[in-house]
Amino acid sequence: MAKYIFITGGVVSSLGKGISGASIGKLLQLHGFKVNMIKFDPYINVDPGTMNPYQHGEVFVTIDGAETDLDLGTYERFLDVYTSKANTNTSGDIYRVVIDRERRGDYGGATVQVIPHITDEIKRRFSALKDECDISIIEIGGTVGDIEGLPFMEAVRQFQLENRKEDIFSIHVTLVPYIAGARELKTKPTQHSVNKLREIGISPDMIISRTEHHLDKFLKRKIALFCNMKENYVVEAIDASSIYYIPEAFYSQKVDTLVMKKLKIKPKKKFDKSWFVKIKSFSEFSRTVKVAVVGKYADLKDAYKSIDESLNIAAAALKAKVRVDYLGAEDKGLLKKIKNYDAILVPGGFGNRGVEGKIRAITYARENKIPFLGICLGMQCSVIEIARNLANLKDANSTEFCKATKYPVIKILDEQKNIKYMGGTMRLGSYKSKLKKNTLAYKLYKSSEIEERHRHRYEMNPEFVEILKKVGLYISAYHKDVLPEIIEMKNHPFFIGVQFHPEFASRPMKPHPLFEGFINVALLNKKKQ
Ligand code: GLN
Repeated sequence: MAKYIFITGGVVSSLGKGISGASIGKLLQLHGFKVNMIKFDPYINVDPGTMNPYQHGEVFVTIDGAETDLDLGTYERFLDVYTSKANTNTSGDIYRVVIDRERRGDYGGATVQVIPHITDEIKRRFSALKDECDISIIEIGGTVGDIEGLPFMEAVRQFQLENRKEDIFSIHVTLVPYIAGARELKTKPTQHSVNKLREIGISPDMIISRTEHHLDKFLKRKIALFCNMKENYVVEAIDASSIYYIPEAFYSQKVDTLVMKKLKIKPKKKFDKSWFVKIKSFSEFSRTVKVAVVGKYADLKDAYKSIDESLNIAAAALKAKVRVDYLGAEDKGLLKKIKNYDAILVPGGFGNRGVEGKIRAITYARENKIPFLGICLGMQCSVIEIARNLANLKDANSTEFCKATKYPVIKILDEQKNIKYMGGTMRLGSYKSKLKKNTLAYKLYKSSEIEERHRHRYEMNPEFVEILKKVGLYISAYHKDVLPEIIEMKNHPFFIGVQFHPEFASRPMKPHPLFEGFINVALLNKKKQ
């Protein structure tokens, strides 16, 4: 039984197609179905790995080392699944594969065209996970009418034609804007958008309207009539204080029942509402802990989406709330501002912008025994900090920032060349590491072997391990006994740096042990003040 739900968007981007799809996926999962989601991004980049997080949000890394759109993080967190390369597609990647085939002569001299060659490749990828799940939810990025999106829309049209009606459900997410002057919600953009979709040959089964105000019966009827559907298939997605409330909001509008009806499927088990209840309980906690994230991008939360989620999830597990503020590492007033926080996190990053500010923030955390979590570049900065300020290795640095540094405590290692990487020169995806007993990391993970996702080129230089050990730094985990994975500091309540990205593994009901440990100590730290 291969069933598909297609999600397209209209009017404007950023309407939350991913969240809408994931919320419906969650409901179907609670009915007992195996659900997965696939993203199609119409841009020409082969993957988002090279895209600026400031414009595009964080790069999410899958276990098998794909650098993907942050929507895949939403899929993983909502559905508690692991995504892979098969869950992420771009025009760039699709065209590259088709052009490679053409160069090999696989098309036997045919003229290679958008239809059928590109659309065939897109359709092949629509069913990439059909054997692994009951329902594939397919999100088409961008908005209807975009030039780059056309081959994807055309592929959806063909796919509908080639499959049974009851195997496909098509959802169009649009905006119903509120015009304050007229005090009115407007349906015209939705009408135009659906018109555009129809021109391509897709008639949506359901409209999800993003709106700031409730849609009354009159408006729903208007949209329904225009879109050739019954009123109850016009669903309102009103702005919510937490994205995790959306599944329940859809449930109360019977979205799951309507989808199952058209797909001719019956629930596989009794619907379990405990997920809703647990999610709701998260908002009831009153004690709040304040965390400063000191990074390169101070004003774009999406650049650190998974970190934000991980902190919130960890706090909720400890029956607390977290206020996360993003402080620019280049901000001259950083050290003054940082004093107001219960814990400090330095996230990953590339390039030397803000590195010295991050190092100063780490000195402050170390000296004042403020809980500190360094992720990837954050861990590398903590090694530099300790080398410079405790081991007296003047101007110690990473060769990423200073090639000629006398003390290259972080560098590209010769040992790395013997380890097969999934992503060329970059260490990408999941790698195992062994934890030493009697370390904070071991206490938190409660395991001697872990597997975490990586995305970096540089590593801690083992030549400096002994010198740094003498000043209190401890390596609590190694990959294959050569590459340091976790560092911690003795005589500090929580000072941990990790070479990997634990933030990609948090789930609303499964906080990551490092984040939970971090927030836990931050809460204790708060009590002391
Ligand atoms: N720029 C560093 C490296 O490549 C850290 C990367 C990261 O933080 N993801 O090693």
